[in-house]
Amino acid sequence: MSYHRTRAIILRKTDYSNTSVVLNALTQESGRLGLIAKGVRRGGAAYETEPELFTIHDVVFTLRRNGVMGTLTESAVIDDMHGIRRKVDRFWAASYMAELLLDLTAEGQPLTEVYALAAGAFRGIARAQKVAPHVFIFEMGLLRLLGHEPSMAACVECGSPRKRAGAVAFSALKGGYLCKDCRRTDPNAITIRGSAAALMQALGKSAQSSRRADGAAPARADRLNIDRDSARDLRRALNHFFTFLRERPSKTLKYMQALYR
Ligand SMILES: [Zn+2]
Repeated sequence: MSYHRTRAIILRKTDYSNTSVVLNALTQESGRLGLIAKGVRRGGAAYETEPELFTIHDVVFTLRRNGVMGTLTESAVIDDMHGIRRKVDRFWAASYMAELLLDLTAEGQPLTEVYALAAGAFRGIARAQKVAPHVFIFEMGLLRLLGHEPSMAACVECGSPRKRAGAVAFSALKGGYLCKDCRRTDPNAITIRGSAAALMQALGKSAQSSRRADGAAPARADRLNIDRDSARDLRRALNHFFTFLRERPSKTLKYMQALYR
């Protein structure tokens, strides 16, 4: 049996027995995996401590033939993300990001860039004064990496450029902005402020140009100033889009949503 060693972010933790837990982890080298930590609660010698949610660990594991479930044989904390557990808004933002990763990525596929994005985002959240910009940048980056980046510069149907001012239609089904003439092509399109559409376009562009290495917390999130109305509309547009992509609403969103009131 071969051993794999990589870094891993713990996205979910489920009790398996009195002494064991199953972790769902996003790894740098092997994509997203289930990892059983046998006897971790007995103080199993190979584990420093029981891995906590949202922490980054250096892990060693053996993989079953299906490639999506493994047995954890060693783990050591790289980043304990204690800042996330110190504030409730950070905790809910991290929970929401973990839920998106669990719902929108498949197990057993290489996700090196998604890992880098997520590691940077969790580290950013762990010390953020305001979490909302960090979550927006993470969401736009994730959409880009998964091939769902919304098209906001021009109408997705006819290609006419988006006018600078005024409210616009955003369609999850079509994947972006719809002009007045094309809005009828998606009866479920929602109306958002022009400022929110512009913000989405700008964040999409910066997601395109940034290739963060693991560990570089996104400093630009702290510099980003978003007015409350634009933030609310961008939140609505992204909720609309992610609900469409995952084919169901988020479970943690209602907690995180409080941050946008
Ligand atoms: Zn159009």
